Amino acid sequence: MDEHVMSTYRRTEEVLVGGRGAQVWDEKGRVWLDFLGGIAVSALGHSHPRLVEALRDQAGRLIHVSNLFRHPYTEEVADRLAKLSGLEAVFFTNSGTEANEAALKLARKHHVRAGSPERRGFVALEGSFHGRTLGSLSVTHTAKYREPFEPLIPGVTFVAPDDETRLAEVLRRERPAALIVEPIQGESGVRDLSFSFLRKARALCDETGTVLIHDEVQSGAGRTGDFLAADAAGVKPDVVTLAKPIGGGLPMGVMIVNRALSGTFQPGDHGSTFAGGPFVLRAALVFLQELDERGLMENVRARGAQLATGLADLKGDFPVITGLSGRGLIRGVKLSHGAEQLVRDLHAGGLIANRTGGDVLRLLPPYVITEDELARGLDILRENLKGLPERA
Ligand code: PLP
Repeated sequence: MDEHVMSTYRRTEEVLVGGRGAQVWDEKGRVWLDFLGGIAVSALGHSHPRLVEALRDQAGRLIHVSNLFRHPYTEEVADRLAKLSGLEAVFFTNSGTEANEAALKLARKHHVRAGSPERRGFVALEGSFHGRTLGSLSVTHTAKYREPFEPLIPGVTFVAPDDETRLAEVLRRERPAALIVEPIQGESGVRDLSFSFLRKARALCDETGTVLIHDEVQSGAGRTGDFLAADAAGVKPDVVTLAKPIGGGLPMGVMIVNRALSGTFQPGDHGSTFAGGPFVLRAALVFLQELDERGLMENVRARGAQLATGLADLKGDFPVITGLSGRGLIRGVKLSHGAEQLVRDLHAGGLIANRTGGDVLRLLPPYVITEDELARGLDILRENLKGLPERA
């Protein structure tokens, strides 16, 4: 059956054919509660009525025109993103990795314009994941993702998250083009960076003239209950990248930059055939309206609090849980062992989640999840934790 499909993913046997809200079902009618949301994408859940209606309408009007023409949604979506992020100007992409590529290129171009063209290098963090294209891969830490594709971009230094002393030393010595940081490292086990580290990184970038890029592809766009995860630390980056939920499930990313960097790219410096088209931006508009005006962010906060309490209870009852991380609706449940088995058991029990960063169960439910659905998901988790022995 997989004869002509490259084996880059280990897929499940079931064929998913439909969904509504936080539920998905397969062709045989089996239903799951979706606590993974297409890996942080389906924030509006499945088949969101306003999204479906808007996309039906848009498909009949205009799907693609290229970036050489104006269409009704570019400015409106960019204005909303600027307002929500507190930054200034937006570049549209088709994915998270492309948003990071844009950010890395922008940082280098900034230094060319600023009269310091020798600033070419990048500093990133151990445990980072920024994407699969060669630029983003160069600042991604995991050796197994990088090594088969080397040589990558030279001049990248990795620093341990929360090691403020080493970060200071490296930024002062190397004077890189940019520091790239995920405020919550999603792929390495939902690792929270401390607010102190985020603030220190901001201060050091100011001191050394380093462009500070926050990759909020997984943690941003309302996921934590704030628009950006770093908002809670009171830290504004120079550049933020977003993707995953921003297009309501359609492929979309953005790079948003501050005022000082807004003129860095000039016509011809960067581009994309598909990005920012009317179809995907109509979806983004619905997502941003739901988030900003229709109470979705309040639901993330309320359900996030419910999830935190539920997981803390489970941690109290099951010693196999050794740690909890994340905020809002991005949560990591660290286990002493057995996360892979647990994910399989949960799947059999009707709950979709996944494992990341070793023995961490990752939960990324849709922002529209209801109180009852969340409670049901926690019950399924409790039932299946009972089957996991305390020690491996
Ligand atoms: N950055 C972060 C923090 C991510 O979690 C991901 C994907 O998981 C990416 C970048 C890459 O995004 P994409 O798969 O849309 O290229």
